[in-house]
Amino acid sequence: MATNPYAWLKQSLETIHRADWYRSVQTIESQAGPVVRLAGREVLNFASNDYLGLTSDDRLIQAAIAATQKFGTGSTGSRLITGHRELHRQLELAIAALKQTEDALVFSSGYLANLGAIATLVGKRDLILSDQYNHSSLKNGAILSGATVVDYAHCDVADLSTKLTQQRDRYRRCLILTDSVFSMDGDLCPLPELLAIATEFEAMLLVDEAHATGVMGATGAGCVEHFGCTGHPLIQIGTLSKALGSLGGYVAGSATLIDFLRNRAPTWIYTTGLSPADTAAASAAIAIVQQEPQRRAQLWQNVAHLQQLIAESWSDAPIAFELKPLPSASPILCFQVPDAATVLQIGQKLKQAGIFASAIRPPTVPTSRVRITVMATHTSAHLQQLAAALSQVTT
Ligand code: PMP
Repeated sequence: MATNPYAWLKQSLETIHRADWYRSVQTIESQAGPVVRLAGREVLNFASNDYLGLTSDDRLIQAAIAATQKFGTGSTGSRLITGHRELHRQLELAIAALKQTEDALVFSSGYLANLGAIATLVGKRDLILSDQYNHSSLKNGAILSGATVVDYAHCDVADLSTKLTQQRDRYRRCLILTDSVFSMDGDLCPLPELLAIATEFEAMLLVDEAHATGVMGATGAGCVEHFGCTGHPLIQIGTLSKALGSLGGYVAGSATLIDFLRNRAPTWIYTTGLSPADTAAASAAIAIVQQEPQRRAQLWQNVAHLQQLIAESWSDAPIAFELKPLPSASPILCFQVPDAATVLQIGQKLKQAGIFASAIRPPTVPTSRVRITVMATHTSAHLQQLAAALSQVTT
């Protein structure tokens, strides 16, 4: 009797279930914001990447509506084949102005920007050095490129330098890959040191500013600005979907880099351009990032306030099991827990206490953790409720 070629799918899912790695999506029944409705109940939202609270800002909504009314809902095809709208190019110029780079190129997502840039810049004869905690899009871009991929220990410049000394000469081109804000940890890459190493070993350096754009740096340009590295030869990647409240991704860098990607990157050439609505919303968000630094200031004030509240409540609460804060220098605060089953239980307990926070498990991360993201639009009362709930799940 013929065997079912799809039978392994069910077996695989059962293995995922047994490891407590099974994932399911929760339905949000309200507009995005610091408070959302989940399963008929209002909960505080500490699970979104909408750092500045722009996703529900009326200016973005109106920009998206106006662009849809003027140009329609879709872009109808690849920009090279079908043409694009002036608003696509305006968005790219706005990104380049924010980042102070010569040019930028907008992709349909940050994931596609990373896949396209990495796989276009290096190939079989080349070497990639990648931080071990890099985002999936950097890792999969590296695999897609066909280059030899070597991971270096997280943020460890000595390990990176040793590996480059051992291997650099055997390869034609070299590309170093790093997140700037690590999305599942909240810490920052040592960008100035990475730049120095890239120069020493004649390597290209690609930095993923997905969680930094709009959040880090005096003008919200990202970690490149935060570390005083603006104007250095870098390939910057980012997303329009987090602090910028829209959808899409980008590469920012030299005019030559952008021209090259426009001609070679398959994830840009062979896919439909960003919708008019997403493009216009992202442009409106960049204008707000530049004109309203007080939003960023409020975000950082909230981060500091939450950290203080957590430190205070934990100083007098006994900790029954380990809820270990990971080092953070961003609005992403992660608490490591012993295993996947425990993180799921904590996620449930937090939900009962009216808090929506992400329970992150392997294989996304090496160790299970509760991930909290702070928004500029959280109030002091929201932060107090979170700190109290966190101290209760630990007692
Ligand atoms: N890079 C990092 C560091 C991310 O966290 C993400 C999104 N989770 C991406 C890239 C992908 O961005 P997008 O959601 O726009 O595909």
